[in-house]
Amino acid sequence: MQPINLLDLTYDALEAFVVETLGQPRFRTDQIWRWLWQKDARSFQDMTNLSKDLRSRLPELARVHWPEVTETHRSQDGTVKFLLQLHDGCLVETVLIPSVQGRYTQCLSTQVGCAMACTFCNTGQMGFERNMTHGEILGQILVGRRFLLDQGLPELRNFVFMGMGEPLNNLEALMNALRSMNSDTGLNISWRRATVSTVGLPKQLDILGASELALPAISLHAPTQELRAQIMPKAARVPLDELMACLDRFPMRPRERITFEYLLLGGVNDSLEHARQLAKLLSNRRCKVNLIAYNATDDAPYSAPDRDQVERFEKYLWDQGMTATIRRSMGADIKAACGQLKAQTIK
Ligand code: SAH
Repeated sequence: MQPINLLDLTYDALEAFVVETLGQPRFRTDQIWRWLWQKDARSFQDMTNLSKDLRSRLPELARVHWPEVTETHRSQDGTVKFLLQLHDGCLVETVLIPSVQGRYTQCLSTQVGCAMACTFCNTGQMGFERNMTHGEILGQILVGRRFLLDQGLPELRNFVFMGMGEPLNNLEALMNALRSMNSDTGLNISWRRATVSTVGLPKQLDILGASELALPAISLHAPTQELRAQIMPKAARVPLDELMACLDRFPMRPRERITFEYLLLGGVNDSLEHARQLAKLLSNRRCKVNLIAYNATDDAPYSAPDRDQVERFEKYLWDQGMTATIRRSMGADIKAACGQLKAQTIK
């Protein structure tokens, strides 16, 4: 039997392992959980409050496996990007982004590759390989937190599931990871510090909403069904009005809003007419728009929008009374856009 990676277990699953497999008292769960998620233990020998006998027996049954950092890139602007290798050799990316308050936001991957095949996205073009596990998703946080601590840099504060993959296509691992992030004897990340970026899958969004664990950011990228179907054909299998109806019932507290991401592709969806259609679609909804200038890669099928056009687009939305921001493009010198680093490495 392959030893299990203890990082893949939720608290409840770890408890079952401790009691049933190890034949140990229940309180050991808490001890091991703290070693894993608070004290960065990577070997059982480190777990000094377990008996010697237990410590030597554990390696036959289990291991503690972190994703392996194979490349670290630091950008001029403070962004740090890691290429991580999983136990089977698969590669994923995670990025630390300094935020205005000096703390860091971490961008997390949830799948190796992605099945959505959006026409502008590097990861989408790679196709889907597999889902990441609970331990692999949260392992990115262990790696990021350790790096910041070792470098004497500020702590992590926010998390965006905006890396490789479609998080809502890996719903079980995502929900378990969100729950584990909150554990006060574990990673102890305050409630609702996570945003899940998605193409918008209604059934899964309903489940995310009911959990109250995170808010969604929707990769809209087009104001009409027709244009959306052209640039993200698989995502657009969910008709726009169905997606909007689902978001209108997403449970939110008074000051919360849904984020719509709008990727501006030069000459495709960046005209003022598109801005007008977008305003019409969103103007009486509780939301904010995050405009992203397309990050053109080598042999990309689209071009970046004009800088002036991006600003005109933003201004139009403000003039209609909407909240819009232009996402700062960070880490361009280290290929920090979705899938770019991996794409370069596998070339
Ligand atoms: N699958 C999820 C999360 C991962 S993609 C989603 O679609 O939301 C995270 C964001 O990066 C999405 O809004 C995606 O459309 C955007 N993106 C993908 N390729 C990009 C590129 N080359 N330049 C800028 N943004 C890109």
